[in-house]
Amino acid sequence: MKLRSKVLSLGLGMTFLSVSLLGAGMGAVQREGYMEQVRVRARAFLSVVAAASVRDLASNRIEELDRVVASLLEKDLKDWDIRFVALVDSHRRVVAHTSQPLYGTVLDDPFTVEAAESDAPVVRDGSGDTDVLLASMPVTTAVPGQPGIRWGTVVAGFGLERVRSHLLDLLGIAAGAVALALLLTAAPLVLLLHRQLVRPVQVLTGAVRAFAAGDLARRTRLRCRDELAELSHGFNDMAERIEGQTRDLERQVAERTHELAEANRALTEANTRLQGLATTDGLTGLHNYRHFASALSDEVQRSRRSRLPVSLLMIDVDRFKAFNDSQGHPAGDQVLRDLARHVRSRLRRTDHACRYGGEEFSVILVETPGEDARRVAEDLRSLVARERFCDAGGNRVVPVTISVGVASFPADAETAEDLVKAADAACYLAKQGGRNRVEAARKPPMSLEG
Ligand code: GH3
Ligand code: MG
Ligand code: MG
Repeated sequence: MKLRSKVLSLGLGMTFLSVSLLGAGMGAVQREGYMEQVRVRARAFLSVVAAASVRDLASNRIEELDRVVASLLEKDLKDWDIRFVALVDSHRRVVAHTSQPLYGTVLDDPFTVEAAESDAPVVRDGSGDTDVLLASMPVTTAVPGQPGIRWGTVVAGFGLERVRSHLLDLLGIAAGAVALALLLTAAPLVLLLHRQLVRPVQVLTGAVRAFAAGDLARRTRLRCRDELAELSHGFNDMAERIEGQTRDLERQVAERTHELAEANRALTEANTRLQGLATTDGLTGLHNYRHFASALSDEVQRSRRSRLPVSLLMIDVDRFKAFNDSQGHPAGDQVLRDLARHVRSRLRRTDHACRYGGEEFSVILVETPGEDARRVAEDLRSLVARERFCDAGGNRVVPVTISVGVASFPADAETAEDLVKAADAACYLAKQGGRNRVEAARKPPMSLEG
């Protein structure tokens, strides 16, 4: 059950209970007022009967007594709600009664017995089924200053229907009053409870839910100054602390993430450099054999898929040993560097220029048929032949030539390995042919031993 429903039920229940208790109390007071009126009237009526019948009772004039009773009844029975009137003598024998057949009988009901024995008037309120008020009055001869002689007792019953009917009317009015009071009292009461209790609790609940859902900036503002306000302050303090701690944590996480990203970037850079070093020739800056072997295998695979040819140049410096011997190794190293620069300058970005080992270079020309490859090789050869290289003294005066072997996949070989053999064999042919030459692979590829 929600708090609003609880407060509504409580407000209505309390109002209903208090109004009902008030109504019941007022009903009881009202009933007592009605009953007192009946008692007073009963006593007055019995006094009249007693006074009117004392002489005839003393003289035992039965007919007169009958007439007294009858005449009284004729006049007053309806207005006074009289049920019966009985005159009994000192032996409780009926000497006159509104119900004629009872004449002469002795009344021994408890009320008549009590009334006959009492010197004073007796009144008993009707209760339960009877709904009749019983009253009695001794019939005595009045003697001033002395107790008179008692001749008998007059007993009468008075109906209480009017009292009951009045009370029922009152009940109806009370029910209306309760409904009105509920309307006038309960509504403002419930409204008050809603503003003072339900609304603040709803505000607090909403704030707690929003905060739990991630709205860390959520706070509450209650205008009351009670425990709910304390709760609200407590929530705000707690939210403040949690928000601060969360922001600190977020900042720390961001810092660590940044540091981690930086370290990662440095690591990647180092890794790339390392990878470059692992696949780069230290002297010439060209790719090394390691790169060459893997690149050739990849390009042959690619060529198989794309059906576009790939060609290989194997370049060997002619009589390089003699150059070293005459000019020295440092000058020889410079020649290798210069040659590397020339090779690179003639290639496309996608081609691979590598130092195969020693004074040998290998060049992979992607998507290039043998004819084009031979042209590139020839260009390179004539470029080198025209060039002059530094001697031991740093003077560009020394000519250097290269021999180049050309082979293509798939024209000259079925595998990367065979392609290398074919290009190598062609280079060998160039050497045999007198050096400073370009030779293409011949089918079937010649063995190196050959
Ligand atoms: P050919 O025309 O038959 O190829 O004769 P060549 O002298 O070039 O061949 P050979 O295989 O006899 O000699 C290769 C020489 O290359 C031997 C070596 O001194 C030289 N060489 C190999 N690597 C380097 C290097 O890194 N620096 C220098 N300066 N010389 C090198
Ligand atoms: Mg060689
Ligand atoms: Mg050589």
